Amino acid sequence: MSKLEIHQFPCHADNYGALVRFGDAGECASIDAPDDAAVEAALATTGWTLSHILVTHWHADHVQGIEPLKEKHGCRVIGPGGSKIPGLDEAVGHGDRFELGAHPVAVIATPGHTMDMINFHFVDDDVVFTGDTLFAMGCGRLFEGDAKTMWRSLERLMALPPQTKVYCGHEYTLANARFAVTVDPDNGELADRLSEVEKLREAGEPTLPTTIGRELATNPFLRVADPAIRAQLGLESAADWEVFAEVRKRKDNA
Ligand code: ZN
Ligand code: FE
Repeated sequence: MSKLEIHQFPCHADNYGALVRFGDAGECASIDAPDDAAVEAALATTGWTLSHILVTHWHADHVQGIEPLKEKHGCRVIGPGGSKIPGLDEAVGHGDRFELGAHPVAVIATPGHTMDMINFHFVDDDVVFTGDTLFAMGCGRLFEGDAKTMWRSLERLMALPPQTKVYCGHEYTLANARFAVTVDPDNGELADRLSEVEKLREAGEPTLPTTIGRELATNPFLRVADPAIRAQLGLESAADWEVFAEVRKRKDNA
């Protein structure tokens, strides 16, 4: 079995695209299709062959390249069901598994940002693509789901092995880190991470991928059981999802 290789590239203002090469002959999957020209450029850089597009959710900045890429490459489009994904060949949902080459991929539904959101876990490779659900030190805005729904979705991701590499749909890390220190001011690992991220962004470098373990230690949206965060918010005895809702509300108004 050939090793999974991932080529991440920025596009638009703050999106990330990613190509995942899984096949011996260079077959790869594009995670979402934010911009067909950017995906084509990444294919040219890597020399890989586009055989699949794995779609996380219906927002335009994740699907607008699907149709031109499908027309040119005849690739198979796998994503959430419903009529909103253009060119969908195969609808998948929570708990479904499929294989790319010899690499098993498990589908994790993570509704909240949108209700159709799914994430792709490359089980044997310890890699997950979280779309706009989980970001470095942040999470997606609640456009369609409520806080309880999003919290349950995040719990699914928190249960993945800590070494799991997390690739996200956007480079929002610096703004997320600056907000995170306001609700988790005594977290030394978070403070260190903020300065690391400032240096990376000053140098124009990506801050992703991250890992589940790192997020569990520094992402305030995942750390709602932490007594210090609860005290900071005055929510010592609230349910986890209620603390999550308060952190989300503060970030929305930050
Ligand atoms: Zn989105
Ligand atoms: Fe997005």
